[in-house]
Amino acid sequence: MLKSYNFQIQVICPGCNTNHPVSSLLANETCDNCGKELFMNKLIQRSFETGSFIDRIKIMNGFLSGIFDNQKPSPGLGSISEFKMICWSHPADCEECKTPLDESDILDSITNKKPIFCKKCNHPMPVRPADDEIKQFHPKAIGVINDSRGFDVHPDVVETKSHTVVFSCMTCGAGLKLDEHSKRLMKCSYCDNENYLPDAIWNRLHPYKEPERIYLILDLNESDLKETLDYFFTMNIFTNYLLLGIRNTHFSDFIGTYFTSENGVFLSDSVKSWWKNLLNSKYERTSKDENINTEIELATGIFKILFIEDVKDIFFSNFRNAYGKLNTELKEFIAGNIIEIPDDIRDMLSKDSSESVRLALAKNKSSENQLSSAIKKEKGFFGKLFG
Ligand SMILES: [Zn+2]
Ligand SMILES: [Zn+2]
Ligand SMILES: [Zn+2]
Repeated sequence: MLKSYNFQIQVICPGCNTNHPVSSLLANETCDNCGKELFMNKLIQRSFETGSFIDRIKIMNGFLSGIFDNQKPSPGLGSISEFKMICWSHPADCEECKTPLDESDILDSITNKKPIFCKKCNHPMPVRPADDEIKQFHPKAIGVINDSRGFDVHPDVVETKSHTVVFSCMTCGAGLKLDEHSKRLMKCSYCDNENYLPDAIWNRLHPYKEPERIYLILDLNESDLKETLDYFFTMNIFTNYLLLGIRNTHFSDFIGTYFTSENGVFLSDSVKSWWKNLLNSKYERTSKDENINTEIELATGIFKILFIEDVKDIFFSNFRNAYGKLNTELKEFIAGNIIEIPDDIRDMLSKDSSESVRLALAKNKSSENQLSSAIKKEKGFFGKLFG
């Protein structure tokens, strides 16, 4: 089953101190502003390992979202001084109109080495089938969408939105036409003197660009998702501070955006498998963990420790709040596959206007058992009242 793990990466160029949006996974890049080669030097790989080692494969396999901040990636002179990486799990979508890409189209583009086109707005994105470099980064990766080193449309198909700006030569005053391809150091075609283009002009030609959204496409099994959950929920929170940070925010960040996404909730095979595993899992707290305060203060910040029950609570409170807007498929999936559904939500599902949701709940044996125990409790209560 396919799962997308997405990156947006920005680095500060040591040559000119400006933001550079990274356009390809893992490769060195050239600064658009000053032409300096930016050595990525395994920055992405290392960002998962700062502080203490964190298993990047397990992180990518899970449905998690967060920021990996790495302010001091390398002490070397001339190397990238600042690095920012946002990662999230959401099906790959069109970078222009955010329409999700079909899994069959993704597979077709990767197999046939061709760009992928948005089915709504026809925007093309380059597709890079997994090569050795990508396989080393994640052994189950099959390709990368929107990577500048991928198979792209023929250059003359891409519409050129040229911004022309007229600039007066600082020596002879002649009007020079500039566009985004102009060099920063520009030779006047009349007097041959060189002009260093001022920031105001340069920035107009090169407006701030958000880093591209780069989608790493993985082909996973259910066991890969389960292993990620085991990894996070059986860890010793005292010894692994970075894992603590991931559990503190990355689980809840993903759940929050899942329910509030503009396109509504998505239900790929992989996210179904994730919800099924996450919401049906039980992890024992080690006796040591039982007594700890749920907030822990470390040099890097204050973390609220989330246990599996907390993550389930976050899911169900989002589910409850969004209930009126949720699609039938998600309600049906939860009704039919989750063993422990909070009473009020089970009640909502049992009264849902869609028959398929009510039916799924009725067929869910474990849920039915719970319901009968709830009724028994109720009978007990009424028994007391009327007895
Ligand atoms: Zn630069
Ligand atoms: Zn589109
Ligand atoms: Zn001139």
